[in-house]
Amino acid sequence: MDLHIPLLLVIIAVAALAAGAWALRNRRSGAGRGPAAELSAARPGAPPAEPADGPSFVPAPPGFSACQKKIALIGDGGVGKTSLVNRFVKGHFDDRYIHTIGTNVKKKPVLLPEEKAEITLMVWDMQGQRNDPTVMTHMFRSEGAIVVCDVTRDQTFNSIPEWIALLEKELGHRVPMVLLGNKADLEEQSLIGQSQLQYMASRYGASWHLTSAKTGQNVEEAFTELARRTLSGK
Ligand code: GDP
Ligand code: MG
Repeated sequence: MDLHIPLLLVIIAVAALAAGAWALRNRRSGAGRGPAAELSAARPGAPPAEPADGPSFVPAPPGFSACQKKIALIGDGGVGKTSLVNRFVKGHFDDRYIHTIGTNVKKKPVLLPEEKAEITLMVWDMQGQRNDPTVMTHMFRSEGAIVVCDVTRDQTFNSIPEWIALLEKELGHRVPMVLLGNKADLEEQSLIGQSQLQYMASRYGASWHLTSAKTGQNVEEAFTELARRTLSGK
């Protein structure tokens, strides 16, 4: 009988240690608190996101405010939306055309030293079909938009107003936007230039950039500018 009490105490101690180690492991791996969980927690009622792909949590530097902004990445199929977000988040370009099925969410923190802010952009890369109802539901509660056309195909430029109308119909208001004329590296095939982009952007109070996901031209600049504009709301 005397022997049983210490044995019982040893068993309880081992069980408590095992439970503690298990809880610590779960906290470190962030089980149950993926970016998608964070996003839907931040946006009650938002449609569930797929897990966001991008660097894991980066703490903001001391004295910096930190927030997340949901960004809609829209434009016709094949204009380079997926390539632009891959260039921005992963820093590389892939020549293959991988048709985006549904919506991918990618995230990247952007540091704005002047504003002393770190904005984590949650970029929702939409499938390029305007008539797909899921595209509209995924625009829900976007706080900014990147509208992309392909400078070698003028129909992708002409459809910009329809994309923006769809976004504004879903949101009920205008959000900060940047307009991108992508594939600027294909200079000889280019049909859309600076003046057309400038004109279109001015219609929506947006800014514009000629970009290339292939060379990286203006990609970082465009996303950083949008992050800045979402902060000011303009
Ligand atoms: P999405 O349908 O809008 O997501 O377009 P993708 O990102 O899948 O790109 C469609 C095709 O255009 C792919 O073959 C890409 O490699 C190519 N592409 C995308 N961006 C550029 C670019 O800046 N320059 C060139 N030359 N090709 C690009
Ligand atoms: Mg795509």
